Amino acid sequence: MSSHPVDSSDLIGLGKRYWLSVYRPRDVVLDHGKGSRVWDTEGRDYLDFGAGIAVNALGHQDPDLVAALTTQAGKLWHASNVFWTEPPLRLAEELIGHAPFAERVFLCNSGTEANEAAIKLVRKWATSKGRPPEERVIITFKGSFHGRTLASVTATAQPKYQEGYEPLPGGFRYVAFNDVPALEEAFAQGGVSAVMLEPIQGEGGVMPAEPGFLKAVRELCDKHDALLVLDEIQSGMGRTGTLFAHAHDHVTPDIVTLAKALGAGFPIGAMLVGPKVADIMQFGAHGTTFGGNPMAAAVARVAVKKISSPAVLLNVERQGNDIRAGLNKLNHDLHLFSEVRGRGLMIGAVLSDAYKGRAGEILDLAAAHGLLILQAGPDVLRIVPPLTITDEETAEGLERLGAALHAFTKEAQVA
Ligand code: PLP
Repeated sequence: MSSHPVDSSDLIGLGKRYWLSVYRPRDVVLDHGKGSRVWDTEGRDYLDFGAGIAVNALGHQDPDLVAALTTQAGKLWHASNVFWTEPPLRLAEELIGHAPFAERVFLCNSGTEANEAAIKLVRKWATSKGRPPEERVIITFKGSFHGRTLASVTATAQPKYQEGYEPLPGGFRYVAFNDVPALEEAFAQGGVSAVMLEPIQGEGGVMPAEPGFLKAVRELCDKHDALLVLDEIQSGMGRTGTLFAHAHDHVTPDIVTLAKALGAGFPIGAMLVGPKVADIMQFGAHGTTFGGNPMAAAVARVAVKKISSPAVLLNVERQGNDIRAGLNKLNHDLHLFSEVRGRGLMIGAVLSDAYKGRAGEILDLAAAHGLLILQAGPDVLRIVPPLTITDEETAEGLERLGAALHAFTKEAQVA
């Protein structure tokens, strides 16, 4: 595609003038993409190791996604939940087909909304058991990220997201991640109706649950008659090499939330619910105008089908290993990272003490060298490319990362 070069500074000026200042985008205006590569308005190309924050799981301009969207756009855009349409019904059936733990689906528009639904469902379930409000506590973990609405930001056990929004809703209890004794203690305080967690904390630093942790959480939930809610909004949909992230842990959740890669770039969220809670919410208990939108669902059907294919899931494993190996090799020369962690194509490189707080600078340098990466907090570089990234794209991305990191260490020495 050859679009005329555009002076991006004019466009960035519009953002600075008119947008609510809640974001601080890099000074790059992206224009189009293909595969795992994107181009800015001035014609520069970038390898996309961020995938729109773990969203563009099938890369850019996947022909099957484009066909699904345009076909549906030519038929019906929206119907609301006052009427049935085919795409969300088929999507629900197909999601359940992939999710042995689940019986029913609620479709919505974002991760936050899926988690808000899960929090409300936990409370309704506890209510159905005759538990008073003080016994509807949801345990969440320090470093978690569950969204930005008042309830989901309260579930998010990180003060930086909550400050200034008090009064926050009650009913949440925070525990250190991967700490079973601390979790036992939190249960022992009583009144717990659910534990909600990410199998791999994303925004909190790409921090995986340790082997056995999810199993211990499930056992404690069973012992105390509480629900297990898994937030797979970032780690699910193939990101770790299996369609659901918890497949590695052999646990059966009661509720799983999805978004991000579910629509592969088109906004959609979902809450999948198991037998204990499938019939708790009845007519009028919850809803959203756009939930089950036929265009979003038509795209998500193709996304789920392609992401769950062995070809894509095996690619996640292979490219993940190659990127980890590449990062370790770079680190051998540069000594920038204290750890490279994560699973599949959800990778975090933790900056060593000498470079703590400087992830943002590295992101800028990477972009200047033609590579888009993310951070997870100030100390962790986060790499979450499309699940369909090719050998060549991975190799070229690592090369560009190497150049950026060499430039960074040079600057760091001078400074
Ligand atoms: N949960 C997790 C684990 C996430 O990573 C995110 C977003 O980063 C959310 C919830 C919120 O999703 P959304 O931004 O779609 O509302």
